[in-house]
Amino acid sequence: MSASFAIVGSGPSGMYAADALLKNFPDCQIDVFDKLPMPFGLIRYGVAPDHFKTKNTARQFSRTLDLDQVRYLGNVEIGRDLSVDELKDNYDAVLYATGMYNDRLLGIPGEGLPGVYGACAFVGWYNAHPDYRDIDPMLDGGNVAVIGIGNVALDVCRVLVKTRAEMQDTDIAAHALEAIEKMPIEEVHMFGRRGPVEAGFTPKELGEIFDLERCAVIVNPDQIPGEVTGDFEGREKGVKEKNLATLRELAAQDKPEKPVRLQFQFYASPVEILGSGRVEGIRLERTEVIDGKAVATGKTFDVPCCSVITAIGYYAGPPEGLPLRGATIENVYGRVRDNIYVVGWAKRGSTGTIPTNGPDSRSVVELLIEDISAGAIELGKPGGTAINTLLSSRNIRVVSREDVNTIRAAEVANAVDGHPWEKFTRIDDMLAVLD
Ligand code: NAP
Repeated sequence: MSASFAIVGSGPSGMYAADALLKNFPDCQIDVFDKLPMPFGLIRYGVAPDHFKTKNTARQFSRTLDLDQVRYLGNVEIGRDLSVDELKDNYDAVLYATGMYNDRLLGIPGEGLPGVYGACAFVGWYNAHPDYRDIDPMLDGGNVAVIGIGNVALDVCRVLVKTRAEMQDTDIAAHALEAIEKMPIEEVHMFGRRGPVEAGFTPKELGEIFDLERCAVIVNPDQIPGEVTGDFEGREKGVKEKNLATLRELAAQDKPEKPVRLQFQFYASPVEILGSGRVEGIRLERTEVIDGKAVATGKTFDVPCCSVITAIGYYAGPPEGLPLRGATIENVYGRVRDNIYVVGWAKRGSTGTIPTNGPDSRSVVELLIEDISAGAIELGKPGGTAINTLLSSRNIRVVSREDVNTIRAAEVANAVDGHPWEKFTRIDDMLAVLD
């Protein structure tokens, strides 16, 4: 008997799950749902526009979507157009791969001021995500504060300081490129509440900020410890040693006269966002790292800035009908309840690179296979046929695989100035191409 599966979310973890299902159930039928018309989630809307090699993973995912056993249903939101129970009742198993699309909050005074943006929103804005098209970030001053010292913070800083020429072969949204180019930017401050050893960024990504066209990188050598101390071993320790070596190199680099400076500021924890009516600055408290934890020293300092961008992690949206535990969908190794499973960031939190999702999704498919073998999951549900009837009775304009190709062709045709394509930023414009 052939099995039927629904995958909710077409980002990396969902597409790796599709590959794993196909490997184990070559005759299965998989319906991949996405609330947005265009597929691949984080690849299209999260990966930095200048990380083109990473974005190329989409080619592999495209090949999966092209298979006869796989159907793409874009522009269908579970919880709005279909319920989780409708999926559960019609497919043998449902795999949630919805990622994390809410920004964690700092929880400090002033966080609600206009001019404070979470990375989800800011990264979505420069990556042409329809939900963030109109955030129109306040980039009207000389200074921006970026909170966090992970790879997302580094992405945000790099995109802010690169020139139009440096972004030419990327797929940054035209509205963002124009706004960043117009910004009278002088300083981007990247604040870490802990030190360089504890930073989440990785050596390759640090290496990308050498020799920027208009930006000098400032690292205070006094903040770089001589060696990696703490509870780190093996590969993790090696990464940290490389980070320190790269930071030392950056600190020692000649600082030619450049109009923009990217300042690495460690041991600085935000305590208040300042301003009346909008962001005017940020107050930080000096910290010391003791036993790996940031400990406040009571000494504060203020930095003026026109906007604050937080890159401090995410949490999963509350999916209709499924419980959250902390930042993720409540699960045990990927099992949620009944025939529902979860993979990717929504399962384990916002950690790891795109390929990390391969083994993660495969491990959940293995559990599913165990559950089928143990008789906990019975095959034989109707699959997509009943779902088609529900969707057409609700007048949902489902975006198919062929439609995706049509929209992409229009995006390629709209490209200018060496960019590979110009992504549509509004769902109506995507659907208009199809009509
Ligand atoms: P991350 O590496 O966990 O960084 C989050 C940062 O936010 C940390 O520096 C953390 O500091 C800080 N933070 C959290 N709460 C804070 C608070 N209240 N006040 C001040 N700082 C706070 O995560 P990420 O940058 O969001 O990236 C998510 C995952 O995607 C990571 O695995 C990352 O490597 C990956 N990613 C990879 C790439 C790439 O490969 N090129 C690009 C982007 C993202 P503490 O450590 O002190 O908590």
